[in-house]
Amino acid sequence: MAFALEHRLDALQRIYDIHDQVLASYGLACRRGCDACCTANVTLTTLEALKIVTGLGGDGEQILAPLARNPDPRRFRPRTGINAIAAMVLNGEDPPEEGADPEAGPCPLLRDHCCPIYPLRPFACRCMASTRACDTTGYATIDDFLVTVNTVFQQVIEDLDAGGATGNLSDLLLLLCRLDIRETYVRGQLDPTPLNLAPNRRMPALMVPPEHRQRMAPVIERLRKEMRAGREG
Ligand code: SF4
Ligand code: SF4
Repeated sequence: MAFALEHRLDALQRIYDIHDQVLASYGLACRRGCDACCTANVTLTTLEALKIVTGLGGDGEQILAPLARNPDPRRFRPRTGINAIAAMVLNGEDPPEEGADPEAGPCPLLRDHCCPIYPLRPFACRCMASTRACDTTGYATIDDFLVTVNTVFQQVIEDLDAGGATGNLSDLLLLLCRLDIRETYVRGQLDPTPLNLAPNRRMPALMVPPEHRQRMAPVIERLRKEMRAGREG
């Protein structure tokens, strides 16, 4: 694995840790066994997929085996990353309409209502949080500030993996299990287009509404430090 990639994986973990610290200030209803948010629509970046595949080690084959069995045809397969959307918004363009199908089935990794890759789960799972149990309301309840927090973290995580790609969890984990694809990615030569993945790109600007800028400033400062550490070691 390229040295710089190790730095980026370390920075990714620290970015997850910062997000955990932000969430800790909320009284969340999320608990073990609560799985309404675990759907086949979850997405992740190539760097996150690499973290999972390499982090599972010898257990990976068995844990990830369900991904290859009858993938849900309704699963969300993004074509546009969040930083491309940010660039379009900045340019006054309308982003393409891409929506996840709410009828998509459960995440294929779920076992007995729990996540078998929980410590390694991607940001799209980590940002699923609610102050009221979704099974009583039918939807997640989070405040506007946490929506901004999640958007910024998603932008930073894509930026950290610029040159990589974003895709559905089932598709991308299966791809990164392939040694040829993994080596191509590690060499920085992955072409997202023939793989039906969304290209990751640097962020043109962080999408922070004016009313959240002051409160977000210390979080963004910590994220910028991790971005530098991920790029420079
Ligand atoms: S986001 Fe909702 S469904 Fe997911 S763990 Fe939290 S309360 Fe449960
Ligand atoms: S990877 Fe884990 S946390 Fe994420 S949706 Fe699947 S089971 Fe849930």
